[in-house]
Amino acid sequence: MKTAVVALGGNAFQPAGEKWSYKQLARNVDKTCEILKILTKKYRLVISHGNAPQVGLLMLQQESTALAPKMPLDVLDAMTQGQLGYLIQKALNEKLKAKAVTVITQVLVDSHDPAFRHPTKPIGPYYKKKIEEDMVKQPGGWRRVVASPKPLRIIEIDEIKSLVKSGYVVISCGGGGIPVVKDKGKLIGVEAVIDKDLAAAVLAEDVKADMLIILTDVKAVFLNYRGGKGCEMELRKTTPEDAQRYMKEGHFAPGSMGPKVQAAIDFALKGGKTIITSPRYMEEALKGDAGTLIE
Ligand code: ADP
Ligand code: MG
Repeated sequence: MKTAVVALGGNAFQPAGEKWSYKQLARNVDKTCEILKILTKKYRLVISHGNAPQVGLLMLQQESTALAPKMPLDVLDAMTQGQLGYLIQKALNEKLKAKAVTVITQVLVDSHDPAFRHPTKPIGPYYKKKIEEDMVKQPGGWRRVVASPKPLRIIEIDEIKSLVKSGYVVISCGGGGIPVVKDKGKLIGVEAVIDKDLAAAVLAEDVKADMLIILTDVKAVFLNYRGGKGCEMELRKTTPEDAQRYMKEGHFAPGSMGPKVQAAIDFALKGGKTIITSPRYMEEALKGDAGTLIE
């Protein structure tokens, strides 16, 4: 049986235009997981997920009271792995009759990664205007940005591989993994959010996946992307070399589509193929009739 790593977008669980609530989140997770059923006939599944909206909300929650002590960002990352892991695990067990398990995953990053000096990763809710220094404008509004260092190595990879081999659907590297650095032989959590797409590419390579499927809130990757307006062009099939060129030309926003295309390039250079699409178009994309294929 083939193996597919599926990276689920945190923004697809809590879309920009939707009123955010627990019920809506659980419903979106259920809906997305149900769609993964089509994959189970052909693929052994390894799941990863984003956490940008969820980790930003936790940040807001802890800022709204002085009664509870604040947790650092690495702990908030871990909390979202539990929160979303719980919902995804439950949905996969119910809808796919899978044996799903969530692994709290740490991912090694370099303490000298330049990303620590230039925050680029948008998290949390969308604001109508800029309310603080580290914010970025996205199609849905202004969002906070945090550091997003490059994932180097998945600490729990042996455990993940062994669970996959035993037939479990493993949910891991949630939110890109908890970023840790090595200091005198010890792992120390750091305040950052790793991009889940880049972590998913490392995961896909490690578990020797045949395919990486990145599910987000857009149908495909576009050139000249204008959020549905203007003369954008859907990119249906491309090579890592061409994708790299488009990236250099500035077609993919950093912190959103940029890391997805970068993940696809990384994986393609290791011989893997990647599909980028939305859950709704996944079935068509598998047949080559929708989405973006990079190989
Ligand atoms: P996820 O939570 O799935 O990782 P992101 O917000 O990080 O979602 O990335 C998806 C978003 O990337 C889309 O909603 C879209 O606004 C944005 N985007 C930026 N550039 C492009 C592009 N060239 N083609 C398609 N989408 C793009
Ligand atoms: Mg993202």
